[in-house]
Amino acid sequence: MKDRVYNFGAGPAMLPIPVMEKIQREWLDYNGMGVSIIEISHRAKEFVAVLEEAQALFRELTGLPDNYRILFVHGGARMQFSALPLNFAGRSPERTCLYVESGNFAKLAAKEAANLCNVVTIASSAATDYDRIPELASEQIDPSAAYLHITGNNTIYGTRWNVFPETGGVPLIADMTSELLSRKIDFSRFGVVYAGLQKNLGPSGMAMVIVREDLLGHADLQTPTLLNYTQCDKDNSLTNTTNTFAIYVIKLVLEWLKEQGGVEVIEALNEEKAARLYQVIDAADFYRGIALPEHRSIMNVSFRLPSEELDKAFLKEAEAIGLYALKGHRNAGGVRASIYNPMPMAGVEKLATFMEEFARRNG
Ligand SMILES: *Cc1c(COP(=O)(O)O)cnc(C)c1O
Repeated sequence: MKDRVYNFGAGPAMLPIPVMEKIQREWLDYNGMGVSIIEISHRAKEFVAVLEEAQALFRELTGLPDNYRILFVHGGARMQFSALPLNFAGRSPERTCLYVESGNFAKLAAKEAANLCNVVTIASSAATDYDRIPELASEQIDPSAAYLHITGNNTIYGTRWNVFPETGGVPLIADMTSELLSRKIDFSRFGVVYAGLQKNLGPSGMAMVIVREDLLGHADLQTPTLLNYTQCDKDNSLTNTTNTFAIYVIKLVLEWLKEQGGVEVIEALNEEKAARLYQVIDAADFYRGIALPEHRSIMNVSFRLPSEELDKAFLKEAEAIGLYALKGHRNAGGVRASIYNPMPMAGVEKLATFMEEFARRNG
């Protein structure tokens, strides 16, 4: 077997090794049942216990207030781009939904919603190639809007909201796909937080939706059953056959996170990991960070070298020494190091040392 590499891919992304080893150990015989966890009914008590334990662990790790529900839904993050207006636009008489365009996924979220509601994009950083979170004044927030949608961490450009907007009575909805559980969040500031699983939480194709109870019950009549959060909540995420494997993996990832000391401990480590890479970027006039310093993400570190030829040479040499999947997204180019919760400091240190050495040779 080839040695494991350090995987900097943006998603599907690396998972903690102890989690994958546990899956392997339990694969043929889950809990002494003589079958795999993915070979039993989604309504079997053993699986329902897994789902409920995942919910309880999430609550414990995040300090989620009691008036929030935790849903596991199909279709990853982008399916929620449609589900959000279907479930919540009806709260506004004009079906007005506010969006902030801070990157590619933010733009896609607004585009998808525009088929179903009256989208107003109230701020955008497109003009500066999404190098920042756009400024947003509270007067821009129409109090009759159904919600305000933001993207907490912009995976492609490597920016994030450091201070979340004050929205008054308008529920704040955040796509936190690439950062959920990477930092402490005061959930009481949000109406809805959602995330595709494949970055910090588990396998692809599903999402977690955290929704404040009072926002349920407003879905449009034509909402497909499987996109209806109220129905999903009633059925405890088991309306139809869910992706039992994905939920089992999330549970293991949450257990792993608890063993690491929880969100505060992992956040401190994430800060340290990101700081090490930004330190190399800022140390010389060789690497150029894509995000403005005050908007930098601690999950995705995006940067360019002095030329596209050097970008290519960098990626090739990096891969040869076991630094995998560092190529930037096609929209941004350059290099992107995704350093989600499971990435150990040793992987970041190896990348940082390689960056320093590459700059010395080519600067
Ligand atoms: C990766 C990503 C998505 C897309 O997720 P899918 O599960 O592929 O739909 C959406 N939003 C953000 C912020 C992402 O990072």
